[in-house]
Parts: sequence; structure tokens; C-alpha cells
Amino acid sequence: MTQQNIPSVYDAEPIPAEARAEIDRLLQTGDLFRYTAPEDAPVALLEREFAALLGAKYALAVSSCSAALFLSLKALGLPRDARVLIPGFTFAAVPSSVVHADCVPVLCEVGENYRIDINDFQARLEDSIDAVVISHMRGHTSDMDAIMALCAARNIPVVEDAAHSLGTKWHGENIGTIGRIGCFSFQSYKMINAGEGGILITDDADAVARAVIMSGAYEHNWRKHMAPGDNSPELEAAFERWQNKLPLYNLRMSNLSAAVIRPQLGHLARRVSDGLRNHDYVANALENSPWITVPDKLAPEERAPDSIQFNLVGMSDDETRAFAEAAAERGVKVQVFGLSTDNARAFWNWEFIPGGAPELPQTRKMLMRACDARLPARLTMPELDSIIEALTSAASDVKGAYAKAV
Ligand SMILES: *Cc1c(COP(=O)(O)O)cnc(C)c1O
Repeated sequence: MTQQNIPSVYDAEPIPAEARAEIDRLLQTGDLFRYTAPEDAPVALLEREFAALLGAKYALAVSSCSAALFLSLKALGLPRDARVLIPGFTFAAVPSSVVHADCVPVLCEVGENYRIDINDFQARLEDSIDAVVISHMRGHTSDMDAIMALCAARNIPVVEDAAHSLGTKWHGENIGTIGRIGCFSFQSYKMINAGEGGILITDDADAVARAVIMSGAYEHNWRKHMAPGDNSPELEAAFERWQNKLPLYNLRMSNLSAAVIRPQLGHLARRVSDGLRNHDYVANALENSPWITVPDKLAPEERAPDSIQFNLVGMSDDETRAFAEAAAERGVKVQVFGLSTDNARAFWNWEFIPGGAPELPQTRKMLMRACDARLPARLTMPELDSIIEALTSAASDVKGAYAKAV
């Protein structure tokens, strides 16, 4: 076993060369603020392009997906201490955005397949829930048919945290367009890399007008959110309705970020198909190990993964730790969500939640055996083979190469 084929999974794909020319132009002119140009600033163009790409009416680019989630909750006009149901398996940014919006996160159980447990979701929805944030964690889509039906019946708005789901589809529809508002991330480990950045999409003129103003469109800068010549009386009326009525949180995106993002939009389809090919190739091969299982996707779901999650079978906590060490020795870094100290995706570390995070036995059990490895779209087949070899050998190192555990 050599480690020389093991790729660095943290190296990003180069930013397309077109970005350089645009960044040079922006640096020459110093035109970095989205509201300096009278129209068509790079951030405004990004918003139009992104909304068109996803099939949404409106988009608002901001400083991060966390900012987009926060603004979404503020845009819904939730009262202080509103109860927001979120999955017990997500990134700490999600309960944080709920707390930031002066709301109270309520957690529900997640199954072994990393998706929301619909029975538990339904039960908790009865507990005075005012809004729902569905976090498609690591791009694993929860059952949106069941979720939308349950929420529609109770008139509860749904925000989709699609930070890691750009390019994922549900019954052929883009994830992020199913709930009232969808939020995406341009942080470096997501499908499109600007270092930092986020965007929200919606068809709701009132919600986007509120979010635009609160994101920092002071005075009449909201006019620059309407395409030139575009006559949208509904949107204009919503902006006028909220003029001077809302606090400004200043979570805007800079033109430099937009210049880095825009040329990557054209690469999305390729990244999605490469990422899916890589994921499915590795997932199939890992299933040959008696000690590893990769949960299936849901039937209506078309995935866009840039990482892989799998569960260890028949291993104790110590064996699980030994597996992660053996994989690291073989050059592949695997994180067990529930076992690494202070992991931001383990709900018991969200001590900032008012009253503390509740116990979620089913989610905890999953987190103690669920492994996370990055699998960027740019990896080659030989590199994938070396990752497969490292992971399956690490499991055999710990358990021996016996039959599939029962
Ligand atoms: C990355 C991520 C976030 C946070 O995105 P930022 O742009 O870093 O704020 C939120 N939710 C999920 C599921 C994520 O993967």
C-alpha cells in the first residue's frame, strides 16, 4: 500500500480565468461596492443569472449562507421567540441563524440515512412550530413531499438550507425552489467557491423585498435590485411598503465575490455530473466491505455530491476511532461526526441553544458511526481507487476481512 496516489481533497479547483480579467477591471476602477454603479453591478448580474439558472423569480446575494438563513427568517416576519423546527443533524450555522433571528431552534430526529425522520418531524410540528428550516445536510435531501404536505396543511413556511445542495433535484425540480425561500453557500467547500458568500432565492416578492432592505439596501438602493427596464409592480410595491420600516443588517456581497462566482456558474453542470459519478463509484465499491454501508438516496432525488458519507457496521466506539486512525495513516481523512471533539455537526455541542440542545437518541446513534470524507468533483478514477483501497483496508485492519456483519 502506497500513499502516493492519495490526492489532497482540500485543494480547490482553479477559479476560471475569466474571473481574473473582471477582477482586474474592478481593481482598476475601485468599483467594489454593489451599489456604486447605477445598474448592472456584478452582484446584481449574479443575482439575475442565479435566479434564471435555478428557475426562481428573485435572488439576493449576501455574505454567507448563514446570513441568507438569518435574513430568510427575518423576511418571514416571525415574532420574537418563534419556534423554528430544524433537523438534529446539520451544521451549527443553522441553529445559530435561528438564535440570531431571535427565534428558538426546536430539533427533530434524523435517521441512519442522514435524512429527517418524518414521524418525529410530524410529531414535533404539533408543538407550536412557527417555521421550518430544512437543512439538506451534505446534500442529502429529506422527503420534501411529506414535509411540504405537512407544513402546507398547517400553513407553516419552509426555508430550505440548500447550502450543500446546489444542483440537486427532487422530482426534477431544483432543491432550493421547493420551500418558500432557498439558501445556498459559496464557501470554499461547496459546489461554487468564492471563499465566502451566500444567496437566497424565492418567488415571494414581499419576502425578497424585506430581505433586500435588511441585507443593507439603504435609501432607494432597492431600485438596483430590479433589472433595468423591468417593470415589476409587485416587487416595487413591496419595496415601497417596507421603506424605512426595517433594520439594516448590512450583509451585502462585494463585487469581487460576484466576479469570482459568475464564471463558475457555467461549470456547475459538469461539477454536478462529475461529483455524482465519483460518489456513486466510491459508494458501490465501499459496499463490498462487510463493515461499511452507504445509505441509498430517496427515489425522487438526483444528487450533486462533493463528499461521501457512510456508516460503519458492527464496530464499537474504539473500533470506529481505530478505523478513522487507520484511514488517516493510509492518507484519507475521515471524520466521524459524533466522535471528533467539539464537532460543529453534533447537536450536543450546540450549547448556545436556549435551554441547551435536547437529547435525540436516534440522531446520536447515527452520528457515532457516520463517517464523512471529502470527494471533490475534480478527482480522477485512479485517485478514487486509492481512496476506496484506503477506506476498505482501514476497515479490514480493524475488523479483519470477514463476511458482512449481521
Ligand atoms: C456550509 C453550510 C452552511 C453554512 O454556509 P456558510 O456560507 O458558511 O454560512 C449551512 N448549512 C449547511 C448544510 C452547510 O453545509
